[in-house]
Amino acid sequence: MQTSFQPAALLRPQPAGSESASRNKPNARTGETDGVAALAHAPDNAPAVRLLTDTLREATRRNASDLHIEPAESGWRVRLRIDGVLHEIATPPAHLRDAFITRVKVLARMDIAERRVPQDGRLRLATSPGRTEDYRVNSLPTLFGEKLVLRRLDALPTDLSLDSLGLDAQQRDAVGCAIRAPHGLVLVTGPTGSGKTLSLYCFLNLLNSESRNLCSVEDPAEIQLAGINQVSVREKAGLTFAVALRAFLRQDPDIVMVGEIRDEETADVAVKAAQTGHLVLSTLHTNDAPAAAARLLDIGVAPYNLAAALRMVTAQRLVRRLCTACRTPAPHSAAALRSAGFAEEQIDGWQPYTAKGCAACHGIGYRGRVGVHQVMPMSDAMRDLIVARAGTHELARQARSEHIGTLRDAALARVRDGSPKHSPPPRSREQYRYTSPCVDRHALPMARCRSRRKP
Ligand SMILES: [Zn+2]
Repeated sequence: MQTSFQPAALLRPQPAGSESASRNKPNARTGETDGVAALAHAPDNAPAVRLLTDTLREATRRNASDLHIEPAESGWRVRLRIDGVLHEIATPPAHLRDAFITRVKVLARMDIAERRVPQDGRLRLATSPGRTEDYRVNSLPTLFGEKLVLRRLDALPTDLSLDSLGLDAQQRDAVGCAIRAPHGLVLVTGPTGSGKTLSLYCFLNLLNSESRNLCSVEDPAEIQLAGINQVSVREKAGLTFAVALRAFLRQDPDIVMVGEIRDEETADVAVKAAQTGHLVLSTLHTNDAPAAAARLLDIGVAPYNLAAALRMVTAQRLVRRLCTACRTPAPHSAAALRSAGFAEEQIDGWQPYTAKGCAACHGIGYRGRVGVHQVMPMSDAMRDLIVARAGTHELARQARSEHIGTLRDAALARVRDGSPKHSPPPRSREQYRYTSPCVDRHALPMARCRSRRKP
């Protein structure tokens, strides 16, 4: 794996005029220019270059999170991931495949001669005057040639409030209470791509003030947040989550964010930090909130330490919202809604909707996503269960008895309260994903969050 790119350096804002100045200094290895690759000014005589320009513009226009460039036995295809689902775009001319892939690799500063091992690269493009986009590029040698995946790296949304995450009023209060506590461990759980990192950024943003020292370690730190001391994991150089976390504790921290707890050493330091007067925020890959305790016990955390440190666990998913411009009333039966989990009184006089597709949503029928959450503050009874090494089911039963809704309950509530009058105009992708409560009323009870990415 080539890991020559410098995320933080490339994320730094480019000074005005640097684009034209840097274009005069070709990179010795690739022959490309340093700094921002100016898509709009690229020599547009080559069809492959024009095709790349058009493809990236289409990705921006449709708010895609990833681009997949996939060689096949004959020809190739380009797919865009929009709101968590892949969509193929117009079939590109077969003869442009190699030139297209080479062009991306050159711009991403990857070794174009090496096609046998996976490589990583980073791409910053001026897509239009005054607008740049960052991409993380990864190549994979497949049977029919190199497959490339370009991940669009977003800027942080301007709205980082708890409301913007899609929490209901009760959940918002519980989360606000937990993250404002002076110490303890707050965990956000969910599969990859469920918006955990954005939730943590939202928490950090709320806590970000002159009076506190906030440190975060991520793999890698993709979004910059002013006022936070951000560190990227570099395993090869020996900078792991645990090493960074130990260093943080010698840096007089108030709040520490750990991108992910995935080994015993990190879990151990995080739990001890939470017990010694620091607020620790982290994520964990579990299906729901009650499973988090069992996971940490499995990793090797001592039950009494975990019970003492853990303050709150949340679980979350992102689900697609129906396009409000074209959604249509769906034929439905009360029995089907009851079996989906709706109570009798919720069904009366309520009209569910289904996806249709229009120009506004590019024929998909969905536009943007919304977060659904399970918020589980730790009670004394739950701490006792953890000390007794109780299983996930017992913790879930206890949570139920304390009126903590499941993810499914949250999703059903979203389906039920969806209303077009709350829909704001689309802004950035992340913002749009979280702002409106109008969701796909039909697909939601069965909604699954896709599992994706993060190398
Ligand atoms: Zn539509």
